[in-house]
Amino acid sequence: MTPYPHRPAPAAADALPRRAPLVLMYHRVASVAFDPNRLAVTPRRFSRQMAWLHRWGLRGVAVGELVAAMRSGEHRGLVGITFDDGYADLIEHVPAVVDRYRFTATVFVVSGRLGGVNDWDRGTPWPLVDADGVRRLAEAGLEIGAHGRQHVALAGTEPEVLRAETYGSRADLEALLAAPVSGFAYPYGSMDVAARAAVRAAGYAYGCAVFAKRAEQGLVALPRMYAGERDTAFRLAAKRLLHRRHVTR
Ligand SMILES: [Zn+2]
Repeated sequence: MTPYPHRPAPAAADALPRRAPLVLMYHRVASVAFDPNRLAVTPRRFSRQMAWLHRWGLRGVAVGELVAAMRSGEHRGLVGITFDDGYADLIEHVPAVVDRYRFTATVFVVSGRLGGVNDWDRGTPWPLVDADGVRRLAEAGLEIGAHGRQHVALAGTEPEVLRAETYGSRADLEALLAAPVSGFAYPYGSMDVAARAAVRAAGYAYGCAVFAKRAEQGLVALPRMYAGERDTAFRLAAKRLLHRRHVTR
């Protein structure tokens, strides 16, 4: 009997279920007068969006929890809730709203910019959480994930930078929290094959992208849907359908 010819094993460990759950991407929850990049959602709108999920029998969860549920096939009805950059005032609004429905969420922080501002974006510089703030978010029950050290776009970058931004930011946060950090979010959603490999090699259980082509989608390239101030219940429902079309295999 001839053995089967060698075939590269499918990246089963990285594969998403047939219908991957929706993951929402937020940045800041605050009432902001000037927001040219549309990164903020008012506390009132955010609260309504969480209420909408709850009303539809959906549960908002941290992506670490979502990935564990996907692995055991128990992700039905779960929606990932994420916050990129780690704005200093997240602690004021997010834990209270999330707790109201027994939801959880993930905050992706930039480990080399703690206590600084988001000067990588144009517009008003907004304060980022400092080291103590990261600990407070974790103590409030939120999952802390990494968003690089310096918020650089990873696609096409050199191997040393890739390693510092992926492995380095994980090491920084694990030292700060004295706890494992299992999630990464690509700054600007920027990734390529090498960036995804670096995220895997750095030991992350998952990586959050923004847009990911169907062929790229996987646990290290989880597509996310932007959620913002304009997202009424109707628009959220429409986005949920759009997401399904984008991910269903
Ligand atoms: Zn970011």
